[in-house]
Amino acid sequence: MRSLARCFCSSNAKHPPKFEEHAILADETTFSVNEVEALYILFEQLSSSAIDDDFIHKEDFLLAISNGSSKQNLLSERLFDLFDAKRKGVIEFGEFVRALHIFHPDAREAEKISFAFRLYDLRHTGYIEREGLKEMVLATLREHELDLCLSIDAVEAIVDKTLQEVDLKGDGKIDEEEWKDLVAKNPSLIKNMTLPCLRDITLAFPHFVVESEVPDSELFR
Ligand code: CA
Repeated sequence: MRSLARCFCSSNAKHPPKFEEHAILADETTFSVNEVEALYILFEQLSSSAIDDDFIHKEDFLLAISNGSSKQNLLSERLFDLFDAKRKGVIEFGEFVRALHIFHPDAREAEKISFAFRLYDLRHTGYIEREGLKEMVLATLREHELDLCLSIDAVEAIVDKTLQEVDLKGDGKIDEEEWKDLVAKNPSLIKNMTLPCLRDITLAFPHFVVESEVPDSELFR
């Protein structure tokens, strides 16, 4: 049945995603079919915010995650690259769902740790370098509203001290093993890899559930 659905989807690649594709996505992720359908509504909104088509372009993405400001930074660029798994320069619906799945409260922690490593590996070198670590430190400070209280020098000092502590191999950068050790000691570092709202995604788009042709049983998967 699943393989039949796959054939059906691939032969209709130019058409908007069909229920069959949504079922496959639900199968591969933590989301139910209903939740995938709700995510499609969100996807349609995001994919039309800057450039109106069936893809999330970088412009759409940056607009969405920066709350209207078009300011770009390395971290949001890198996040876009990670969503764009096929590296086509745009985010397709399937890529969108598979990436968001990692942010689901029920997704495996190992997936979150690995995704965060790739995220802070800003220049795709296979390491978290000082620059990526600084982004992480700044994000943590911002979360505690401490970023405005500290001078640039103080932030740099925190980054240096953290790097010294984490970089057990002493090569000036953080490899995946050192990263896993760091997260084990500081689980809050991957807190931003979980979006609690993803658990209630169908509540955010309640009208969908009423209009949906998905059988009721799917609601309780
Ligand atoms: Ca190292």
